[in-house]
Amino acid sequence: MKISDIKTYIVSQKLGEKSFCYSQAWYNTRTIMILEIITDDGLSGWGEAFGNAFINQAVIEHAYKSQLIGQNVFDTEKIWDQLYNSLRDNGQKGSSIQALSAVDIALWDLKGKYTHLPVYTLMGGARRKQIVPYATGLYHTSLDQDPKALVSEAVSYIKSGFRALKMKTGFGVENDIKMVSAVREAIGPEIDLMVDPNHAYNASSAIKMAKGIEPYNILWIEEPVPPEDIRGYQEVKAATNISISGGEAEFTAYGFKNLIDARAIDILQPDCCITGGLTAFNRIITLAKIANIQCYPHVWGSGIAVAAGLHASFSMPDFPEALIPGKVYFELDRTENIFREKINKNPLVIRDGYIDLPQSGEGLGIEIDRDLIKKYQIG
Ligand code: CA
Repeated sequence: MKISDIKTYIVSQKLGEKSFCYSQAWYNTRTIMILEIITDDGLSGWGEAFGNAFINQAVIEHAYKSQLIGQNVFDTEKIWDQLYNSLRDNGQKGSSIQALSAVDIALWDLKGKYTHLPVYTLMGGARRKQIVPYATGLYHTSLDQDPKALVSEAVSYIKSGFRALKMKTGFGVENDIKMVSAVREAIGPEIDLMVDPNHAYNASSAIKMAKGIEPYNILWIEEPVPPEDIRGYQEVKAATNISISGGEAEFTAYGFKNLIDARAIDILQPDCCITGGLTAFNRIITLAKIANIQCYPHVWGSGIAVAAGLHASFSMPDFPEALIPGKVYFELDRTENIFREKINKNPLVIRDGYIDLPQSGEGLGIEIDRDLIKKYQIG
C-alpha cells in the first residue's frame, strides 16, 4: 500500500458550436488534469483537479511527486499537512491546493480499494439514502441571449427528471430579472430554482438583482459578489430573504474558517477538486457543523469529480439534524463534457428526481475508461 508512481493526464475536448459563456468568460474547450496514483501492489487510485490543467500538472510533477513516492496511502491526514506545508508560504490558495485535491481524492479512492469499502463509509458513514441532483445550465450562447432558448432548455431538464435547476445570471441586473422571470413562468412554482451570477456584481448591484428576483421564489443566489468581498457578502445576505451561497473559490479549512466566522454565507459550497480533496472537505464540514451552516458541495468536472462530490454529499451530516432533515442538493453540470459523461464506465442514474446511495463499489466506485483518456490526451 505504498505509492510507487504518479501519472498525470491532461485531456481536452473542443466544444466548437457548443461553446457557451457565463458572466466572466467563454468556454470553448473542456480541459482537465486527471491524476493516477499507483501503488507497489498494482492498484490505481484516481483524482482530479479543478482549474488550469497545465499549472496543476506542474505542481504535481515539480512539487508533490517526489514527496509522495514511498508514502502509505492510508496516511491521508499526514500527507495533506506535509504537502500543504511544503508550499504554505506561497501557495495557501489556488493551483497548489487544486493539485493537492487531486492527490488526496486519489488516496481516498485507494483506501477504499484496499478495504473494499466505499469512500462514504471511510468518511464516516452514509447519512442519507437519496440526494437531489440539480441541473446546472442555462448558460448564455450569445451576448444577446434569447430568453426563449433558456426557457426551452429549462423545460428539457424538467422533462428529463430534474426537480431543481440553477441558471447562470450576472449579465446585468435588468437582464437577469427578465431571464429569471421567463424561466420561472415556464417551469411553474414547484421546481427549485437557483441563480448564479459568478460574482459579477458589487454589493449594491447584487442587492438590486436580489430584490428584483425575490418574487420568483429563488432557493439561493450563488456568489453574488467576488470571493474576497466578505463584507459585501454580509451586506447582500442582510438585505434579501433569498439565501446566499458561495465558497467554490475558497480553499482549505483555513479559508473556510474566515467565511464561517464572518457569518457571510448561508450555504457553503466547498468543491473537493478545489479546496483540498476529501480530507479538507471533512475538516470544512466539521467547522460548518459546529457553526450550524448548511453545505452543498460544488461540483464541476469529469466523472471523477462527480464521484468525489457524491461520496462527500452522502457522508456529510445534516445542518442541523431533525425528524425531517433538509434536502441535500447535488450539482450536476449539463453542458457538453465527454469526460463527465464517459470517463467513468458506471453511469450515474437519476431516478424520480433523486440520486440513490450507491450500494456497491469500492473507493469512489468508478471504472475509468483508459481508452477515452488516450483518445483525448494532450500535452
Ligand atoms: Ca457557481
